[in-house]
Amino acid sequence: METELSLELIQKLPKTDLHVHLDGSLRLETVTDLACKQGVKLPTEDSEELFRLIYAGEVCNSLEDYLKAFDITLSVLQTEESLERTAFELAEDAWNEGVHHIEVRYAPMLHTRKGLRLTTVVEAVLRGLRMAKRMYGIRYGLILCGIRSMSTESSLRMAELCLAFKNRGVVGFDLAGSEVDNPAALHQKAFQLILSNNINCTAHAGEAYGPESIAQAIHKCGAHRIGHGTRLIENGDLLNYVNDHRIPLEVCPSSNIQTKAAATWEAHPIDFFVDYGLRVTINTDNRLITDTTVSKELWLCHKHYGWSLDQIKEILIAGFKSAFISYREKADLLKEITAELGKFQVPNDAEVWQAGPDRHLNAPPVQVSDAGCATAAPQPAPDPVPVTDIIR
Ligand SMILES: [Zn+2]
Repeated sequence: METELSLELIQKLPKTDLHVHLDGSLRLETVTDLACKQGVKLPTEDSEELFRLIYAGEVCNSLEDYLKAFDITLSVLQTEESLERTAFELAEDAWNEGVHHIEVRYAPMLHTRKGLRLTTVVEAVLRGLRMAKRMYGIRYGLILCGIRSMSTESSLRMAELCLAFKNRGVVGFDLAGSEVDNPAALHQKAFQLILSNNINCTAHAGEAYGPESIAQAIHKCGAHRIGHGTRLIENGDLLNYVNDHRIPLEVCPSSNIQTKAAATWEAHPIDFFVDYGLRVTINTDNRLITDTTVSKELWLCHKHYGWSLDQIKEILIAGFKSAFISYREKADLLKEITAELGKFQVPNDAEVWQAGPDRHLNAPPVQVSDAGCATAAPQPAPDPVPVTDIIR
């Protein structure tokens, strides 16, 4: 039996959130406050009722249902101030749960209803993220999304924005939205523009549609990472291709269960993916709509699959390895993160406190060694990550 890990311990570990939508990750009180300031009428004035309408937990029957919650959040995200504020708050919330690198994504064309220019929409979000970096030191990148169900022209416009803001905060392009009846190949032009300008890209695939959708994202659109990829489990050949090419999966377990991409935690293939050696990263998708954090997702995986602290550390390293950061910068960052992770250990006498039920109940979930604490036992120096290891 593995030592039980607490959510508090997982919150202290350095993490990434590579798949998080700005418009699904607002604070609930910010939605209310923005609506009030902007004179936007929300479907209800009661905050509990509002949460129930936005939270897709119990009412969501499909990905299509899940996407409806965005109608509410998008209604208050049509001004520069709201975009800057929510970007800042998202990065602040992430930092407060130990996220050191966040890649925020959203579709700028969904924020022009009140006349904002696309460039203004991007600049406002970048300002918010920059402010969080200045204040906390959190690293960030912005990913701009095309939407599957919208025109190919619109995704091309988003790709052009990526070009304009390349090396100015935008680190990649994504294709989001409903997969059914909206194949990624329809947006090939946008991906071509992205790839021919040496920009990173990812695509939501294998969430509401089968492995063919993942194959298309990789082979026709050149995706460097796959958003979700849940249904990769249905095609062993493609699964091995993804594994052999170390294509990262941006897995968002709770979101997958809400959208019925997986029926239950037990039916979710993520534990197999990890076991098989795929490059798995754990992400939130939508912090408000799914009511989650990266720490909570990892903790739930620990609860459901018995992932040990060492396994969780490997997954965290996979997150940093998969980030859209340049190779040399990443190598430096990985050394730093490995050293940081090395400070967290499960005590060797774990079996002792697991010996009896009384002791188990009274014992803290885990002893955290903190090198900054004078009373902590000295820890062996962590092994630096060999630079070559970052290709794994
Ligand atoms: Zn997503």
